[in-house]
This record gives sequence, structure tokens and C-alpha cells, in this order.
Amino acid sequence: MSDFTHDSFQHLFSQRILNTPRSFIREMLTVTQNSDIISFAGGLPEPSLFPVEEIAQAAQTALSEEGSRALQYSTTEGYTALRQWIVDDYERRGMHTRVDEIIITAGSQQALDLIAKAFIDPGTPVLFERPAYLGALQAFALSAPEIRETTLQPDGPELTSLERGVKGARLFYCVPEFQNPSGVYYSMPKRRAIVEILRREQTLLVEDEPYRELYYNDREALPALAALYDGPSISLGSFSKIVAPGMRLGWIRADRRLIDKLLVAKQATDLHTSSFNQIVLYNYLSSRSLNNRLAELRRCYRERRDAMSDALRTFLPQAEFTDPQGGMFHWVRLPGIDTAGIFRDVLEAGVAYVPGTSFYAHNPDTETMRLNFTNSAPDVIVDGVRRLSTAVSGMLPT
Ligand code: PMP
Repeated sequence: MSDFTHDSFQHLFSQRILNTPRSFIREMLTVTQNSDIISFAGGLPEPSLFPVEEIAQAAQTALSEEGSRALQYSTTEGYTALRQWIVDDYERRGMHTRVDEIIITAGSQQALDLIAKAFIDPGTPVLFERPAYLGALQAFALSAPEIRETTLQPDGPELTSLERGVKGARLFYCVPEFQNPSGVYYSMPKRRAIVEILRREQTLLVEDEPYRELYYNDREALPALAALYDGPSISLGSFSKIVAPGMRLGWIRADRRLIDKLLVAKQATDLHTSSFNQIVLYNYLSSRSLNNRLAELRRCYRERRDAMSDALRTFLPQAEFTDPQGGMFHWVRLPGIDTAGIFRDVLEAGVAYVPGTSFYAHNPDTETMRLNFTNSAPDVIVDGVRRLSTAVSGMLPT
């Protein structure tokens, strides 16, 4: 190695990887682990609520009753019983679904990768929300699309930018329920209007729903966009937020005409999702403890959401934010402050967040930040917001 003439290996990399930014959040996880920093940066669930005992039991059953299947190679589509569980869930929502319309993926992050591989060539126009889920921006960046944006308002996308953006776009990617990062929940009139606009162009809808079960206020569940739309659509789901992200299990629901090519992408990527994990998860779901768990998660996260809302109002009265009705994040604007510029100083004051710039493909709104509330106890949240307020005091207009 010592006589290697280049001082870096830059020349070895593909353009696509050189053009793809690192995830700020993954980087932050290393900074904030094992320190006394209060981190509002990650999107982590509360670990003490993980169903460790139940999963241990489910794993034991998987090995003792289906050991050879759990440890063997399996089909690309995934474990049929788990896919059927997902189908039953859609059927309960009134969304007719067949087992061969479901692929189990390694989290919904992998679903985004497969969609980019199957539908995007360099320069293909795609429409994203503004701000957008950072992981989707990153997954798609590898395929180098032309990213267009439709601005989010409190009730969903602003329709003029949506109409302009979908013209000639290959797909519209959106998170209509408790969006990451903004917390926005699409209203019924917006859902109808979006579907009408997509219908004109027959745009491919990619609807990502990882937070739909994490609601904290009484509400009437609204139909998914995919349930209202008769054009091509793909729905993404995830067990990360409702069971455990470390299992890396999510899914794609798509029409047969779309799914065959996604299966080719999945095969080429990893052959299939871990058989063992799929069987363990299915055993856990069969124990019927998920509903109790969801109730417990909602109780815990509601309290934390409220603690953060109250702390923001008390300690940062200049901050602008909308109380999120679900999900995992507060999306905050600090007028006049470049949140990326002050990041290091605030970190030194003992609190971490994600500067809003990470969530924009173009022209970032630099005054925004994303604060996670699910991974800290209420008193820690209050402490963290107080630290944040002390660090930025003097910078905000009075
Ligand atoms: N989509 C959205 C909107 C998300 O917020 C996340 C997780 N932060 C993901 C997809 C990926 O989740 P996973 O791969 O764990 O299912």
C-alpha cells in the first residue's frame, strides 16, 4: 500500500456514490451515543418498550418448530404467512389486496432503494414533498433523478406546485400521515384533490406509511391515497415503528404489473429478506399482543409530544411550530437563525437536533430544525429544550 501513488482513493468511486451525501442522522448517532448529550436528532423509538420477552419467545418457537425453514434460503417475495398478515391488515382498511401483491423488504428504506432501481434513470423527473424524508432523498440520489418539490402546508401539499410538479414526472413520493420531518397529516379535501391531479397524468403514486398507527389525538382514520386512486400506486409499510427497527422488516404493496420488476430489483439486491427475522416477527404478531403494544406506544409518545410542545412554548416562545398529531417529530422554525450554522455550539451546550437543510433537495430553508420526541423521557425533553433555549438566547428576535 505504501507505494500507492494517489493520496486518496477518490478515483476508484462511481459518480453515483460520489454524488450521494452521507446521512446526517446516521453520523449523529455516533456522536450522541455514550455521551451526556440529549439527542433529539435520531428517529429512534423508546427502547424500554421493545417487546424483548415476546420476541425471545417468538425466536425460540421459530427455531424449535421451524428451524430448518428459518435458517434456509427462501423466496424473494417473503414468508407467505407474514404477507397474509399484511394482506388482512389492508383488507380491514377496505383496501383489496392479494398475497402476490406484497413483497417483504429489509425495512421500508430498502423499498425506496428498489423503487429507485426499478423506475428511475439518471435525470428522470420525480416529485417529492418539501421538506422531504431525508432517507428517501438519499436512496433516490443514487439513481440521480431530477427532484422536483411540492411545498407542504399544514393540511398537505400546496396544489399549484403539485400540479406543476407532476407534469411529466415519473412518480410522486409522499408520506401523508405524520410526515417526517414536518408532522403534516393530509386532510380529506387535499387527498381528493391530489388523486384528481395524479389521475390526469396517470402519475405513479408512492405512498409511505410508517407512522400511520402512531396517532395521539382522537381522529377518524382517513382513506389512504392509494385507496382513492385508480392509477398506478405503490404503498410502503414498516414494522420499525410499531415493533422494532432492528429487525429491519417492512413491505411493498403494489399491483402485479409493477411488482414483477420490483422483485427483480429485490433479487439482485439481497435475494430475499432474512427468513429467520420474518418467521420470528410472524410468531410475535400471531401472539396478538400488537394492539396492546400500540396503545402503550401511543400513551408514552403522547406524553412526550405534549412535554415537548409545552417546553417549546415555555422556553422558546419565538419558535414557530405546529403541534404534530402523531409521528415522532416536532418541526420547528427559529426565525433569523441558521440552524446548521449554530449546530456545533448547541451540541457543545449538550443538545443535538437535525438542521432542516438535510430535508431539502434544493434551496433549503435554513431556519428549520427537526426535534425527535419519542426517544427521551418527558423530564429529559424539558431539560433539552431548556439547553437549546439557553444556547440560542440572544440570537432570536425579542
Ligand atoms: N420512510 C419514512 C418516512 C421514515 O421516516 C423512515 C424511518 N425513519 C423510513 C421510511 C425507513 O424505515 P425502515 O427502513 O426502518 O422501515
